[in-house]
Amino acid sequence: MASERRPAIVVVDDEPAVLAAVSRDLRRGFGERFRILRASSGSEALDLLREVRGRGEQIALLIADQRMPGMAGTEYLIAAREIVPDAKRVLLTAYADTEAAIAAINEVSLDYYLLKPWDPPEEQLFPVVEDLLTTWTAGAALESGGVRLIGHRFSRESHELRDFLARNRVPARWLDIERDAEARELRHVADVDPERLPVAILEDGSVLERPTVAELAERLGISGQPTSDHYDLVIVGGGPAGLAAAVYGASEGLRTVMVEREAPGGQAGQSSRIENYLGFPSGVSGSDLARRATDQARRLGAELLTVRDAVGVRPEGAGRFVDLGGDESLSANTVLIASGVSYRQLDAPGFADLTGAGVYYGAALTEARSCSEQHVVVIGGANSAGQAAVQLSEFASKVTMLVRGPSLAQSMSHYLIEQIANLANVEVLTETRAVAASGNGRLEGLRIQGPGDAESELEVDACFVFIGASPHTGWLEGIVARDDKGFILAGSDARGDGWPLQRDPYVLETSVPGIFVAGDARARSVKRVASAVGEGSMAVSLIHRYLDDM
Ligand SMILES: Cc1cc2nc3c(=O)[nH]c(=O)nc-3n(C[C@H](O)[C@H](O)[C@H](O)COP(=O)(O)OP(=O)(O)OC[C@H]3O[C@@H](n4cnc5c(N)ncnc54)[C@H](O)[C@@H]3O)c2cc1C
Repeated sequence: MASERRPAIVVVDDEPAVLAAVSRDLRRGFGERFRILRASSGSEALDLLREVRGRGEQIALLIADQRMPGMAGTEYLIAAREIVPDAKRVLLTAYADTEAAIAAINEVSLDYYLLKPWDPPEEQLFPVVEDLLTTWTAGAALESGGVRLIGHRFSRESHELRDFLARNRVPARWLDIERDAEARELRHVADVDPERLPVAILEDGSVLERPTVAELAERLGISGQPTSDHYDLVIVGGGPAGLAAAVYGASEGLRTVMVEREAPGGQAGQSSRIENYLGFPSGVSGSDLARRATDQARRLGAELLTVRDAVGVRPEGAGRFVDLGGDESLSANTVLIASGVSYRQLDAPGFADLTGAGVYYGAALTEARSCSEQHVVVIGGANSAGQAAVQLSEFASKVTMLVRGPSLAQSMSHYLIEQIANLANVEVLTETRAVAASGNGRLEGLRIQGPGDAESELEVDACFVFIGASPHTGWLEGIVARDDKGFILAGSDARGDGWPLQRDPYVLETSVPGIFVAGDARARSVKRVASAVGEGSMAVSLIHRYLDDM
């Protein structure tokens, strides 16, 4: 069958010697898993892409020389994006063209630029291409295989299950009962009553009608079980701070377990493109960063328990116990709280009822593709809202941003403001807020209030809300000291009346010795991926000091 052919890598270069050399090296490194297709000009390559896609075959990677007569590499890659939006993109450049290549990172969403010559390929070519192909393969597998989930797009349950599967990187295919004939057929074959949707059909053929996230997680066996009676370190929360602590803790010989309530990656896992994290010049998607960090933590020996909720911490003598609900708990010498924050809910009429049915909180990634040719609204003016608007603009016909302040400048990074200004289908309404949401079973309209309190109605298909965050620390009430907003105090701020030791708390130590905090959940922390990663790794060195004194 055509679709079972190996995915393709398409190389284009007008210089026959370079084209031959790069194709030869690619065939040597990747020929067993990928077909290498060649073209000698941009237009020839575009025809080739259409032909291959027309046969329903996959294209994993595009490699193009920048200097080509007729059509430059960047021009070709922009046009190619329309045909194969998911393929990874690499530009071949001479040293003198480095600036053009860096500019292309934004223009083309370039994944990498490769300097000619790439000798030896084992060092200069293979690792880069391998990394891009692994990332592509992980994404392609997610959308093609495994679980089939059938439901109504505007159902809260369907949304929660899709989000859970995507964020836990479970290969799954979403089938919309209203739009997909295959969905209707499968529902019929599986003999599921339309009232019992959503339904998940697992790889072994078992059918789960209206499963909860916990039931699906259990059936898929993805939560994991602790293997030890006692740990040096229990980490609560698997965002960047928790994952960094898991990597450093395990690599430095601590028996480490990380407990995550939803899916590794935390808030960062929901970001479509993190552009300011050191070492990723082309940006990195949150799910890719989460996948890399999770693999790294596991490889170094950390245990990861997902879809598990820490509901309390008990200090007992020198021991620290993290309760997981029921009568399950984890025993440890130290605990790191890295439970981060989550979006505040919009408290206006209609929003609560329509959550998951057109109103979404930070869930742009799962829903973006379903928004093609639709009008969507993004509420908020910070970087997370800006990233969502940029990503949604690729699919939606129009994106309207509702921003409370007089401009984006106070709340958003300059690079994102520029990107948004260049997008013809994104409109920014400042000094404007949503005051009500309406719709019959799914979001249909928003009532908005603009400058001078003038009110009007907007017809919308979906609305993504990014209006600030509150910490996940309610489960620690009465155990560690928090500020008036619930963020956890650490270091000198945590030295209150009850502090039992002679020494001061270490910088990331809470009001209970041996319980540390890192990342967004900490009072006065910088709310960024890099700082969360920095604090997670730094916490491990402080934990070593604490353990040395025990
Ligand atoms: C859409 C979006 C885009 C962003 N873009 C950028 C960007 O481009 N650059 C940048 O620097 N920053 C960005 N940020 C901010 C950045 O993602 C956060 O600062 C960072 O993720 C904080 O990391 P953290 O580990 O402290 O917490 P989080 O990422 O919030 O992770 C906390 C984790 O703990 C889990 N958890 C909470 N309570 C419990 C419990 N009781 N038991 C078990 N698990 C629990 C949660 O499920 C979550 O997975 C973005 C944020 C969002 C939402």
